[in-house]
Amino acid sequence: MSVQDHPVELTAPDIAAYKAGNTGIDYVTTLDSGKPGPHVMINAVTHGNEICGAIALDHLFRHGIEPTRGKLSLAFVNHMAFSRFDPNYPRYSRLVDEDINRVWVEERLDGDEDNNELRRARELRPIYDTVDHLLDIHSMGTLSPALMLCNGLDKEVAIARQIGYPAHIVCGSGHVRGKRLIEYTPFNDTSNPKTALLVECGQHWAKPTATIALDTALYFLRAVDFIDPDFFAAHVTDTDPAPQRVLEVTAGVVTETDSFRFVEDYKGLEQFPKAGTVIATDGDAPVKTPHDECILVMPNPHARKGMRVLRFARDVTPL
Ligand SMILES: [Zn+2]
Repeated sequence: MSVQDHPVELTAPDIAAYKAGNTGIDYVTTLDSGKPGPHVMINAVTHGNEICGAIALDHLFRHGIEPTRGKLSLAFVNHMAFSRFDPNYPRYSRLVDEDINRVWVEERLDGDEDNNELRRARELRPIYDTVDHLLDIHSMGTLSPALMLCNGLDKEVAIARQIGYPAHIVCGSGHVRGKRLIEYTPFNDTSNPKTALLVECGQHWAKPTATIALDTALYFLRAVDFIDPDFFAAHVTDTDPAPQRVLEVTAGVVTETDSFRFVEDYKGLEQFPKAGTVIATDGDAPVKTPHDECILVMPNPHARKGMRVLRFARDVTPL
């Protein structure tokens, strides 16, 4: 364990019971209320080492979650990577061949290339094509407060505000290679009402992260009018969420060397009043905040050369 690694306080649940599901796709279960309504979906373990989502879905299943209308699908996305999770080496099960949250580009999904994640993405794609509202549960490398990520489309911000949890909504990607699931064309299209949001619940293996994952799932289901109020009340932990702030990503930084160092042990959401504040060095080059009141989002203390190491944002919360 490197000095920067966080202890593993969470236990990855045994998800073998969910393999068969009822959709013909491994680890995907669709619960049908029998009543009209949209198709809503919650994803866990898009990244195999981000175990909070698996804990949240396991909790919902074990307590008999039932949608009050429409259909609810629950999926363990990268179960292949998750099955390799080892608490002694918790960082090494993010993916098998490549990041499944970068492959959502039509040319790649339709192409001939083959690997574990592309196969899984092709298997799941028909489901996403019928989903109206998706919540994709993730976690982060640092002890950052939780973040709801979206592209910044009006429809996304509207549903993120309706969910009302967690307290920070972050709009914009800040230069990612490939496309994340929330950027997959149908979700990222302003001409249809489909939405996909990605929640970063906290540090991957910190105890509160699993509680936040479950709370986000519950608030999401409440926002789409899918959950019995008694079920919500019986399982929610944070009954009085803080008011939300909306942050807009203004830039992303990709490392140019293998020796990127933050000047302090930033967790995320630190705010720097003055433009030009040095927050890191990349080799010998200083990395400075690009504007006043600049907010650091998702600093990655483990970034190697060519990886996105941080995003900058500004507060655009409507008054
Ligand atoms: Zn993730």
